[in-house]
Amino acid sequence: MLLTDCHTHTEISPDSSAALSVMCRKAQELGLQAYAVTDHIELCRYYPQGYYQTQPRNEEDFFDYAARWEQSMQQNLLAKALLSDKLHFISGIELGEPNADFSLAESLYQDKRLDFVIASLHELPDKLDFYFLDYQQEDAESLLETYFQILLEISRKDCFDVLGHVTYPLRYIAGEAGIRINMQKYRDMLAECFKAVIQNQKGIELNTSGYRQKYGKPFPDADLLKLYHDLGGRILTLGSDAHTPQDLGGGIAQGTELAKACGFEKICFFLRHEPHFINLS
Ligand SMILES: [Zn+2]
Ligand SMILES: [Zn+2]
Repeated sequence: MLLTDCHTHTEISPDSSAALSVMCRKAQELGLQAYAVTDHIELCRYYPQGYYQTQPRNEEDFFDYAARWEQSMQQNLLAKALLSDKLHFISGIELGEPNADFSLAESLYQDKRLDFVIASLHELPDKLDFYFLDYQQEDAESLLETYFQILLEISRKDCFDVLGHVTYPLRYIAGEAGIRINMQKYRDMLAECFKAVIQNQKGIELNTSGYRQKYGKPFPDADLLKLYHDLGGRILTLGSDAHTPQDLGGGIAQGTELAKACGFEKICFFLRHEPHFINLS
């Protein structure tokens, strides 16, 4: 069963070279009912480099996401017009580090060209993306503590529809570096995040990219997905986080089965920030 893919990237994201036309063709071949393009917009580097008076920290430190925002919105509108009779095309964005500027995040969320915003935290203030950190030198537990504190701040704001890959650091800490983490320590903090999201009628995503990575599990895993459901969470989107056409829809069937096993009877996709539910039975 392959219904929706609500987290995907195109070449507008610095870490993808996939043309939207190729991605759209693949989405149709897969028979997706709903397909969201959610290119990266990192709020910690939203303005041109001169604004920050800083040098790029590495070759992947891109600035001026404001320009990418416009490109993305224009590209999404075009695709929406072309695909509207074939599937639900969702004009989305993956808003990284909204904590860098919450008022900007809240105003971007109101952009009328948007259907859907995933809020993600890829890096902590004054740190590089979790991808780049050296976990032999870092204290993984204190990084996670800070990560979940900031995630809780984000979850209380009105600048997103779903929280993205809520256990993202585990991809690197547990998956790549092989450090054992006792997630019981962070369970209460995540429960607070989930409660805030539920109270504000927002949701989380089940990000299936972990199935094809060393980590081997989605973000979040079954235990935390059940916690979200037990707390009353019903708004759940599924996303492959594909950066290539080959990965489009990756892990969605497995993720759908997991959602069912965790008690979800429906999953959803967003249009104009409103959840639309699809029955899983
Ligand atoms: Zn992400
Ligand atoms: Zn992503």
